[in-house]
Amino acid sequence: MSRQISQIAIVAQSSQKAASGFARIQTLGPSRRVQNALRQLGLYWGIGLFCVLFPLLHFILVPFFLILGVFLAARAGAVDRAVVDSSIACPECGKPFQLKTALARWPLNEVCQSCRWSFSLSPDSRNLSAPELHNPG
Ligand SMILES: [Zn+2]
Repeated sequence: MSRQISQIAIVAQSSQKAASGFARIQTLGPSRRVQNALRQLGLYWGIGLFCVLFPLLHFILVPFFLILGVFLAARAGAVDRAVVDSSIACPECGKPFQLKTALARWPLNEVCQSCRWSFSLSPDSRNLSAPELHNPG
């Protein structure tokens, strides 16, 4: 299984302020993408099955979650990169922000744990200094 990790410059943009930092991005192989898709499918089909228990509502909820599961699984399987690590500060309060491991579906919308401001993370289009790191094997 190949693990290609590259480092890119990212920008955190709130309504008025911006901050820049770095994110480490892992390229996902086909097996990981299928795994991500199946995880989404299992989650939403599981919720759909649970909704069988609710009288009347199950006529709407079960098909809704079955269809939603297929849609979100296809969406998750299409993403070929994941954020594994990041170094960025909240643009509003300046405190370091720890990004959870997430599929790299830019822009990522996040909420600062300290000040509760929401901001979006996206790759820095100026891309000043982004050294590419490849870890073969
Ligand atoms: Zn903050």
